[in-house]
Amino acid sequence: MSVVVHQIAIPNPYFEGPANAFLIQNEHSPAVLIDTGIGTEESLGLVRAELARHGCALKDIAAILLTHKHVDHCGLARALSEESGAAVYVHRDDWTDVAFFDERHEEVSQLYLEAMRRWGIPDEIILQMAHFRSRFVGLARSVPAAHRLDDGQTLRFGELAFRVLHTPGHTQGSACFLLGEKLFTGDHLLPTYTSNVGATDVTSAGHLGKFLSSLHKVLALPNVESLEVFPGHGRPWRDPRPRITKIFEHHDERTERILKILSDGGALTAFQIAQKLFGRLKDHHVLLGAGEVYAHLEGLESAGRVRQIEPHRFQIISELL
Ligand SMILES: [Zn+2]
Ligand SMILES: [Zn+2]
Repeated sequence: MSVVVHQIAIPNPYFEGPANAFLIQNEHSPAVLIDTGIGTEESLGLVRAELARHGCALKDIAAILLTHKHVDHCGLARALSEESGAAVYVHRDDWTDVAFFDERHEEVSQLYLEAMRRWGIPDEIILQMAHFRSRFVGLARSVPAAHRLDDGQTLRFGELAFRVLHTPGHTQGSACFLLGEKLFTGDHLLPTYTSNVGATDVTSAGHLGKFLSSLHKVLALPNVESLEVFPGHGRPWRDPRPRITKIFEHHDERTERILKILSDGGALTAFQIAQKLFGRLKDHHVLLGAGEVYAHLEGLESAGRVRQIEPHRFQIISELL
C-alpha cells in the first residue's frame, strides 16, 4: 500500500509559528486530513489551494482527525467539514471544547482567570491576558457533530488504518495517530522546542506527570526506532527516541532549577519563579512560563519536595527536617 503524506504549513499570526496539517492520500482510499490550521479566511484559502495542488478536491476528504483542541490545529474543522462532508474526530477528553468552542469561550476564560491567580500572576497582567484570550473568538468554530475517540481505537478509511494513542499532557485529550510506521503527534512531540505543559489546558490538573507518561507510551510502541514522526509544528523526522530523551532531560533540569531557586529561601509563587527562570516575560509567554512552572510545582508537591505554605506560594521542604 503506498501512502503519500503532504505537509501543509499554515501560518498563525496570533501566538505561534505555522501549524501543520497533513493530507494523507492512498489510491484505494478516500483522503484523510490530520489537523486543519487556524480558523481564518487566509488559512482556509491556503488549505484549499494546497489540496488542489495535490489533486485533492474537498469532497475527496472522508475524515478530519484532530490531534487536540487548540485553535491552531482545529480552527478550520468546522468550515472544512461543512464544505467537504468529512467526519471530524477528536479524543473524548478534548471533545467538549471542540464541539462547543463558541459556547465555552466565557467558561474557559473564567478557568484561565482562576488559573492565573493560582499561578500568582499580578492583577494588572491578568487583565492584559484576558485581552489576549479575547482575540481567540472566531479562530475556531464549534463542531457539535465531531466524533469522540478512545485510546487504542482503530479508525479505518479504505485501506488506511489509524490507531489512536491517547497522550494527555499538552492537553487532556491530546492524541497521536499511528498509521503503519507514521506517527502524527500534534503538539505532544515537537522537533525543536518542548511543547508547553501546564498553561495550555486549564480544564484539568497534573499535566507534567501525564505528559511524561505519554512520552513513555510513545517509547513503548513496537519498532519505535523506525517510526517517522509528523509533528504539529516543524518538520517530520525519523526515530522519536533521541528527541524524547532530550525532553526528559529538559524537564529534569527545569525541576532542579526550580528547587535551586526555592532553596535560596522564602516562599514564591509560580510567577515569581518563572521570572527568575526566564527573566521578564512578555505577552502570552507570561502565561506559558508561569503555567509550566506551576505544573512542576504540582509534581514536586505530590512528590513531597515542596509545600504550599499560603495560597499560591510554595516553599521547599528541607531534607534536614
Ligand atoms: Zn497545542
Ligand atoms: Zn500547536
